[in-house]
Amino acid sequence: MKEMNFISRIIIAVLLLLPAYALAETDIPLNDLTVRFDLGRHVIAGVSKISLPAGQAARVNLAGLKLKAVSIRDRALVVEPGAASITFTPGAAEDVLKIEYEAEYPNVPDSDAAKNPGVASGNAVSPEGILLMDNWYPSVEGASLYRLKAILPSEFEGISEAEEVQVTGRSDGSREILFVFDHPLKNLTFIAGKYKVEKERHGEIEVCTYFFAEDNELSKTYREYTKKYLDMYEKYIGKYPFKRFAVVENFLPTGYSLPTFTLLGKDIVKLPFIVETSLGHEILHQWFGNLVYIDEKSGNWSEGLTTYLADHMYEELKEKGWDYRKQILISFQSYVADGKDFPLTSFRGRTDGASAAIGYGKSAMVFHMLRKTVGDEIFFSSLRRFVEKNSFKSASWVEVREAFEVGYGKKLDWFFRQWVDEKGAPELEIKDPELKYRGAKVGVSFTIVQKGKSYKLLLPIVLKLREGEVRKVFEIEKESTPLEIEADAEKTPVAVIIDDNYDLFRKLADGESPPVISQLLGDDKKIFVVPKGKEGLYDGISEFLKGEGFTEKEESGISYEDIRNSSLLIPGAGTSLTKTLLGKIEGKNADFYLVARRNPYNRKGVIVVIESSLPSEIAKYMQKVTHYGKYSTLTFDGNKNSAKTVDETERGIITDIAEDTPGVEIPRITDLSRVIEKVAGKDIIYVGELHDRFEHHRVQLQIIMELRKKYKKIAIGMEMFQKPFQQALDDYITGTTDEKTFLKKSEYFKRWGFDYNLYREILLYAREYKIPVIALNIRKEIVSKVSREGLQALTDEEMKEVPEYLNLSDMEYRERLRGFFESHAGLGERNFDFFYQAQVLWDESMAQNLDDFVRKNPDYKVVVLAGTGHMTFGSGIPKRSFRLNNRDYAVILNTGDIERDVADFVLFPAPVVLPESPKLGVLLKEENKKVIISQIAPDSIAGKAGLEENDVVISLDGVLVESVDDMRISLFFKKKGDEIAVKVSRKRFLLGPVEKDFKITL
Ligand SMILES: [Zn+2]
Repeated sequence: MKEMNFISRIIIAVLLLLPAYALAETDIPLNDLTVRFDLGRHVIAGVSKISLPAGQAARVNLAGLKLKAVSIRDRALVVEPGAASITFTPGAAEDVLKIEYEAEYPNVPDSDAAKNPGVASGNAVSPEGILLMDNWYPSVEGASLYRLKAILPSEFEGISEAEEVQVTGRSDGSREILFVFDHPLKNLTFIAGKYKVEKERHGEIEVCTYFFAEDNELSKTYREYTKKYLDMYEKYIGKYPFKRFAVVENFLPTGYSLPTFTLLGKDIVKLPFIVETSLGHEILHQWFGNLVYIDEKSGNWSEGLTTYLADHMYEELKEKGWDYRKQILISFQSYVADGKDFPLTSFRGRTDGASAAIGYGKSAMVFHMLRKTVGDEIFFSSLRRFVEKNSFKSASWVEVREAFEVGYGKKLDWFFRQWVDEKGAPELEIKDPELKYRGAKVGVSFTIVQKGKSYKLLLPIVLKLREGEVRKVFEIEKESTPLEIEADAEKTPVAVIIDDNYDLFRKLADGESPPVISQLLGDDKKIFVVPKGKEGLYDGISEFLKGEGFTEKEESGISYEDIRNSSLLIPGAGTSLTKTLLGKIEGKNADFYLVARRNPYNRKGVIVVIESSLPSEIAKYMQKVTHYGKYSTLTFDGNKNSAKTVDETERGIITDIAEDTPGVEIPRITDLSRVIEKVAGKDIIYVGELHDRFEHHRVQLQIIMELRKKYKKIAIGMEMFQKPFQQALDDYITGTTDEKTFLKKSEYFKRWGFDYNLYREILLYAREYKIPVIALNIRKEIVSKVSREGLQALTDEEMKEVPEYLNLSDMEYRERLRGFFESHAGLGERNFDFFYQAQVLWDESMAQNLDDFVRKNPDYKVVVLAGTGHMTFGSGIPKRSFRLNNRDYAVILNTGDIERDVADFVLFPAPVVLPESPKLGVLLKEENKKVIISQIAPDSIAGKAGLEENDVVISLDGVLVESVDDMRISLFFKKKGDEIAVKVSRKRFLLGPVEKDFKITL
């Protein structure tokens, strides 16, 4: 909803629960009330003369009043001191009850600005001003007519419900003000203060402003807007019902509309947008609430109708009605969790976010749908009929329905039953879109599915074409409705969109809802995370957050389930949990800022990070934040909001029917040297591979060679080596160790496993020219553990190897990985979130290790060798690294479909056969430094030579074998046709093991 509109959304409907029939004036008590004040003592003294109609029992409310004297027709009546009420029944003739009383109101009433902004009620009498709203005079239950006379000090001006105000000076310098109002009221309000009063005539209406001197410069603007609104609503709804309208500034932060005036808080009138929004809303309540009263027993219809024709209409006039309606749906989705929904017939007034989202938001949408159902003309003529018929009477949703049925000429019971009597919201989906080309035309067929309860709806659908669009409205009612839209075949349909203008009250699809603050505030399960090492720092905010429904939890206690089931509020972009869930969040130089992001494990939840240069002020800012529910980011400087944004989302429920087919122009096949020329200027060059394709590694080598010739200072980053083994690489490259030692120390075969011949040429070249090689990967054991048990399972020791930032928020990447995950049998049984965490951990580690090198060696260019999956669309390593160091990069792939943005270049190297090392044809396992043959392939040389399963390999060519790596390293250095001596130990039945020697020709 509009920022700060909340303030105006409240009306004290002063005439609640009036009987639905009109009272003849003689049937109504007349309360002739005279009041004077002792401001210094905070005391009001009054005389109330109540004329009671004959024969009608009247209950007079006296709660909180100190009675001085009570009499009936001048005969004293004894009332028990402290009585809350008396009941009196006049005889055959009218009786006059006279009550003299006093009351003391020393305290300024409280307002709960955070929970229910705009509402402050109570009484106060002080030298600064007078505010009397509740039980401040003897009142007869039900409605009365009033004649209020107030005696005030000369510098005070007073206001009450009045069509005429008469002021008389008195000999003692004080002033007597008489308020005349000829319509019944259930409750009388009186306000006085040192106001500047300005008046002007607008047709038959007296338009007045009561502003404090320091704000009086605003009064003209308020009167101008008031006149504009009065004209506008007279046109739409009918004649303004009173002779006078006043805008009154209040020292409390209220936004009330009372008959003939509106009471707007001092802080509120100064906000520049109030004249554009709230003022009109409150003026419209003169018709809806103050002229037609609300019969609350069957639900308050007035807030929805007023919101619709005020706040919403002002946006609609700017062609932003759709956006306003979308905000209504976002608020409903955020605040109204399943258990909190209720039908509009149960709405009385707002008490929290959920009741506001229903009673204002959903209700406004219901009037919008009603308008769409009956059409503009019938909508407004029916409204005028409704107002005319129910003037100075109570009306319920039933009267609303009846007025519209007369105008429409058809029954609308189905509509009101579905939207007003019942709770809930439809949830729609487009299924099975299909194209059928028929000559010049193409038919686009699809099925609309209603999940959950089925509604009768007027469903607006747009068929988006490459050129233009086709719009249609369908009536649907069933759970599943097949539909078709036809278009010109040559215009090429690209998407079907449901309700892009938000004409329906409905649930939003995932793509439509941005991560916003109201999702956090409205979430039933929300956790405030106390960062590690910052315990105690946020004590000041605890109380406030508990009141808002937050659970507090220390960072170290946050489990995967906590994140998956809740929304989180985390102070500090630098908090480890923030860094591992959302990655790096750009800092802002502000007193306070807030960022809401999607919760990567919970599509309904959000993660909100707040940061403040003044932690002690956070509570103050968080209270402000509650008024900015629709935003995704917020910045405050001083006490002022200095920036706010909403993340962009889709408009309508969109289903693509034909992906745009991408094409590439092939002027001539570019050769590798040209590609190298083009990428040479970049700081980081990613060259993707399928690990077992030798030609991919040949391309990598060529690129490395070309770059070295050009730049000398280059380095190679490799996914194939893990960070703890950097030393083994360095020793080999510098020539300190030989190849055999390198392979053993780097645990290459155990940790990577692909034939070393694939990478050997690259490493030999690097060694020759002393090109630094960076071990990019994280230790395999950590990735495996995360993929099995999740990040939260890592020990503190293991966390030390995890990079500082883990950005899990790249939703496109996540979806691509999900596709991969679901299409691979076996993976599906595991937890996708863990799988995803492991992938991101892998990528971020490589980006981090790359960044470490780049920082220490800023004048080096780096060629990164890794699997294609870590590079496509820049999602794996490139964008993450760029976030860390802003270095320009290029991505070259050796394989893959040509898709938009998949890479800078895709190459097509011809296959090259790999010079393979000889193989024995056995499967090996390692147990306690023993290498055991676990399986022998049929027809393998090992089998033919006489090796058997369960043989323990003792040595190869006389060199002791303690690990599978040892075996692989020995074999790696043999050529086909070489002979190798194998010594094994073989178990014998009932006898001890025996050692056997074999000579095997490879
Ligand atoms: Zn309102």
